[in-house]
Amino acid sequence: MREIPTQKIKLSTNNISVSIRREDLIHPFISGNKFRKLKYNLVQAKAENQETLLTFGGAFSNHIAAAAYAGKEQGFKTIGIIRGDELESKIMVNPTLKFAQECGMRFKFITREDYRHKTEEKFIENLKQEFGNFYLVPEGGTNEFAVKGCGEILTEEDSQYDFICCAVGTGGTISGLINSILPHQKVLGFPALKGDFLKEEIRKFAQKENWELITEYHFGGYGKVNPELIAFINRFYAENSIPLDPIYTAKMVFGVMDLIEKNYFPENSKILLIHTGGIQGIAGMNLKLKAKKLPTINVNE
Ligand SMILES: *Cc1c(COP(=O)(O)O)cnc(C)c1O
Repeated sequence: MREIPTQKIKLSTNNISVSIRREDLIHPFISGNKFRKLKYNLVQAKAENQETLLTFGGAFSNHIAAAAYAGKEQGFKTIGIIRGDELESKIMVNPTLKFAQECGMRFKFITREDYRHKTEEKFIENLKQEFGNFYLVPEGGTNEFAVKGCGEILTEEDSQYDFICCAVGTGGTISGLINSILPHQKVLGFPALKGDFLKEEIRKFAQKENWELITEYHFGGYGKVNPELIAFINRFYAENSIPLDPIYTAKMVFGVMDLIEKNYFPENSKILLIHTGGIQGIAGMNLKLKAKKLPTINVNE
């Protein structure tokens, strides 16, 4: 694990302060919160004497890339169950899958329909028939071990902040943050996808009440972007030299900046943004944008 700096963000207002925790720099390949989420899962897998990690993800999944590398680094075989059977022929043109394969990950590509059944007992039993015994890491890495790891993102010095803001996918990261905040602090989560199942998910893992989901900044849903968001990423990079990933962190940072403009935060608020990583996904997003002849993300990945 590398040192994780906290940087001030340039703002046009000076009665609010915004800092960003650079969790994206935690490891060169195991990005941001995926490092936190895998940490105690790997400890558990070792304690169980497991040799193989099996997990799930989509075409550009940060979690697939992180699990593949972490497995290689710590001596596990890795199996990725990938959503979308059409991807099988596209490994070499998909930066995430290519990277995971180079780390030694074995893939099984399944249809979107089959992918929906991935938490069912029968489905898992079939995977055991096919691959033998394995340690199962859920999609996005979220389980009680992941939440424990994400509880380590905040440190004692962070008691100075009033608001802690993060992007939300499956809810594991925000749950860890909620469990480690103090009574005077509040966590704001910015879902990167549509749907309101998340609150319940978070309540399974998080005990406190001082948190809220801000649901207006998903930009049309998971993996969806528009030229305004891409322009925001490029502007933010030009001003702060901090790259943001288009799937998660950019939507959260965009949301926080918009809320500041709308005077959502009380005067003198101190805000901490959690940069959860995901930079590896920029290359894949740029390929998609280029194919549609849309403006691309210009950051030093
Ligand atoms: C996976 C991911 C998230 C979402 O984390 P959850 O714990 O699933 O809510 C947020 N940001 C980045 C960069 C991610 O890769």
